[in-house]
This record gives sequence, structure tokens and C-alpha cells, in this order.
Amino acid sequence: MTTHTPDNSRRRFIKLTAIGLATAPFANALLSGTAGAAEMVSETDPQATALGYKADATKAEKRTDATAMCSSCNFYSGKAGEASGPCAIFQGKLVSANGWCTAWAKKPA
Ligand code: SF4
Repeated sequence: MTTHTPDNSRRRFIKLTAIGLATAPFANALLSGTAGAAEMVSETDPQATALGYKADATKAEKRTDATAMCSSCNFYSGKAGEASGPCAIFQGKLVSANGWCTAWAKKPA
């Protein structure tokens, strides 16, 4: 025999509320489409400074190859045509497709 005493209802309510609160951030991220959205690497980031990263490759003083930029780098995994993408060197952050740093390595054809 199942009884729905006020105590059972309160327990159920507390359980559902706890589950809802625990999953709300994930549901929000999925619905907004920004799950895992990474931030752009700043030129003033210590690692970026050490590697001479510039969001605009033409402003990188050490760059000698005019065709070298993040979009043609082996460490870049952004999609063609997009303004930015992930870089294996700056893990968890995005670099400009038109950027450059001293770690640049030509992407194999
Ligand atoms: S390693 Fe390559 S993709 Fe990453 S910042 Fe340097 S040039 Fe750009």
C-alpha cells in the first residue's frame, strides 16, 4: 500500500529541488550553446608575451614569413573561415586566425 503522507511529499520535493539545482548550470549551458566557450588569448598574457604572440600577425616583429599566421599553423585547430580557434600551445584559449607567435609551425599540406 502506497501512502502519500505530507512527510513523503516533502521528501520528494526536496529531492527534486536538489536534482534541479544540481543540473541547472548544465542545462543552461546546453540551451545557450556556450558550453565550453573559451576566451581569447590576450597579448599581455605571460605565455603570449614569452612567445611574442600578436593577434595581428603583421604586427609581430619576429615574424619573417609573410604567409605564417595561426590559420596556417600546425598547432591551430580552428575551422577555415572563422576569426579564431583553439591553439594547442595556449590550451583552453582561442587565438586569432590572423595571429602569430614564435611557436608557429607550418601545417602539413
Ligand atoms: S602556436 Fe601557432 S596557432 Fe598557436 S599562437 Fe602560435 S602561431 Fe598561432
